[in-house]
Amino acid sequence: MPDGNRPREAPRSPGLEYLQINVAGVVEESFSDGPGIRCVVFAQGCRHRCPGCHNPETHPLAGGRWLKIRDVLDRMRKNPILDGVTLSGGDPFEQAEGFGALAELAKKNGYHVMTYTGYLFEFLLEHREERGWGRLLAWTDVLVDGRFDPARRFPPPRFRGSDNQRIIDVERSLELRRVVRSELERSRQN
Ligand code: SF4
Repeated sequence: MPDGNRPREAPRSPGLEYLQINVAGVVEESFSDGPGIRCVVFAQGCRHRCPGCHNPETHPLAGGRWLKIRDVLDRMRKNPILDGVTLSGGDPFEQAEGFGALAELAKKNGYHVMTYTGYLFEFLLEHREERGWGRLLAWTDVLVDGRFDPARRFPPPRFRGSDNQRIIDVERSLELRRVVRSELERSRQN
């Protein structure tokens, strides 16, 4: 579970907090997009084109609206019961510089960070020096990876669209250089 007791006073990182991200939307309080109570930030832009995708309006890389990371964090800090932030989409890895900065500052503010992507962990790891992917990976606690497969969506797996997607403990996976599944994957549906 997220550590809700970590400090909420942000170390100031002016270079990062003024970066902007292009979002399809923000849900300020969600109970179903990861453990605990979470803010969900939906990235605009996705290249995966999974059949049966529920959010096709998030696919164009143009569109959406630009938000300063500082403004997202300020909105989060106003809600004292938030445990974490979920970066969804779209695919946050298409904007990994900005979403990586958001993940870093969220972690430094004491929030648990969960990130969804259509890429596989192994591919992100192989290309971690490119496109800011290494930073977004490094500041993510839990990664849900892989494309949505409509043939594997029932029974609905918790925190995933289809059960081919993996819920990954990123810190241990980076340490061991292989996928380590998060205990969240074994947690049962409410
Ligand atoms: S990765 Fe997600 S947003 Fe992108 S096409 Fe697949 S299901 Fe849709």
